[in-house]
Amino acid sequence: MECCKCKKKLIQKKTVFRYLEHEMYQEVLCCPVCGKAFITKEFADGKMKSVEMELEEK
Ligand SMILES: [Zn+2]
Repeated sequence: MECCKCKKKLIQKKTVFRYLEHEMYQEVLCCPVCGKAFITKEFADGKMKSVEMELEEK
């Protein structure tokens, strides 16, 4: 996979996500040049779901 803008190979990078006041660290693919993170829809949906489930438990 490469950045569609820079044509550079994507690298794994630890990125923080914020959702419903939660912070999550996750390794994601991102461009070493422009820093754009490439997150699949499946990943985003799964992540959001796990947070929502966590909130319901409390
Ligand atoms: Zn790029």
